[in-house]
Amino acid sequence: MKNNIFKNKKVSVLGLGKSGISAVKFLASLGAKVFISEKNTTSLDTIKKLCLDLKQDIKYETGGHSKKVLDSDLIVLSPGISNKEPIVIEALENNKEIWSELELGFSFIKPKKIIAITGTNGKSTTTTLVYEICKAYGYKTFLCGNIGIPVTSIANEVDKNSIVVVEVSSYQLEFIKNFHANSSAVLNVTPDHLYRYNNIEHYALVKSNIFKNQNKDDIGVYNENDQYKDIIKNAIHGRKLSFGFGQDSGDIFCYDKKIYLKNINWIFDTKNIKIPGDHNVENIMASVLLCMDLIKDNTKILDNVISSFRGIEHRIEQVREINGITFYNDSKSTNVDSTLVALKSFKGRIILLMGGREKEAPYSPLIPEIKSKVKNIIAFGEGKIRIKNELENFVKIDLVETMKDAVEKAFRMASRGDIILLSPACASFDQFNNFEERGRIFKEIVNSL
Ligand code: ADP
Repeated sequence: MKNNIFKNKKVSVLGLGKSGISAVKFLASLGAKVFISEKNTTSLDTIKKLCLDLKQDIKYETGGHSKKVLDSDLIVLSPGISNKEPIVIEALENNKEIWSELELGFSFIKPKKIIAITGTNGKSTTTTLVYEICKAYGYKTFLCGNIGIPVTSIANEVDKNSIVVVEVSSYQLEFIKNFHANSSAVLNVTPDHLYRYNNIEHYALVKSNIFKNQNKDDIGVYNENDQYKDIIKNAIHGRKLSFGFGQDSGDIFCYDKKIYLKNINWIFDTKNIKIPGDHNVENIMASVLLCMDLIKDNTKILDNVISSFRGIEHRIEQVREINGITFYNDSKSTNVDSTLVALKSFKGRIILLMGGREKEAPYSPLIPEIKSKVKNIIAFGEGKIRIKNELENFVKIDLVETMKDAVEKAFRMASRGDIILLSPACASFDQFNNFEERGRIFKEIVNSL
């Protein structure tokens, strides 16, 4: 643990979601003078309770971010707050110190190893698998970051023998200062969150910040098949390790249904993998590279972890089979690319449930898979009209209001051998609190059929 540099420091915490709350608790425990600024007035009760629990004189404002935020030594930003937010722009113009909650947590810990994962898709799956691998090799391991566990919430438990595996979003990477991971990966770069960046190249550059502060012995992992791989590869200053599909297409590659890891001669048959789709083969290959220094000669442990890994909830999760009709929950699919990946993971006869709060990306990349595999689309939520407009020439589309309507309609039209797949390609916030709630509700409805 480093010296406490936060004692009596004035710190403004912007945004009081899960990571904001954790940051406030962490800073308060270190004796910082905390100021909370939250746009949402409904958070007032949460803030009052937090102040009461912490028994400290924490100042706060709700309903907007005023200039009071700038009266601080440090501003800690929640991931949901855009760098285009006026107060953030003003803070930057005033050369204020701005950190993400991630930077805050990592400024405090000195573990044996930090492994960091980013990418448009596959972050949580890869982060979880890396965590499982590190644990299986006998390390005291922590999982944190964008996966839903604030770094500051585990910071006090991490010691010098621990490994910390962190999922990092591009939002958190916008404000990287001293964060240094020993192994980092950018899994892929595809259009998402583009409203926050000038263009996709800018988005790729922000993702590459995960390699910032690495030195020549550190590991940087990239995807040989990614369209923006050169931007990513050029940003790695350490050992550049890559994964890909096709013979010899990376330091680890998948060819003819087998994974080959070149430098330690490890071969793994993909038939032993329990999680569906080529995208998961990519996640596995990236995980192996990230853990390269742990694996060394003992690959038996690695075999066991990979062949027993069943993935995580809400990611192409099999829910139930009724009369030969199988239901899958891919609620985590919040963009077009991850829905495309889900469609590619199946052979066919899919009834696709999609919709929700839209991103700006077009739905057209789905057309080839839709034409060959999708029987019907049932669209719901805010996105349903654009989904209909962009896809109705290729597949029959029904519009419904609620998830319950969608599931019941799909079940009525399905026949033996069909797959009913919830893979929305949209965010959940128009009808649900988050993708987890959307997935849980889908499962509840399916289980009540
Ligand atoms: P993230 O944390 O980046 O959102 P997850 O591991 O939670 O990623 O997976 C979310 C969805 O993204 C999955 O259900 C799947 O459809 C898709 N996906 C997962 N891994 C990849 C990958 N390597 N490439 C492309 N899409 C992927």
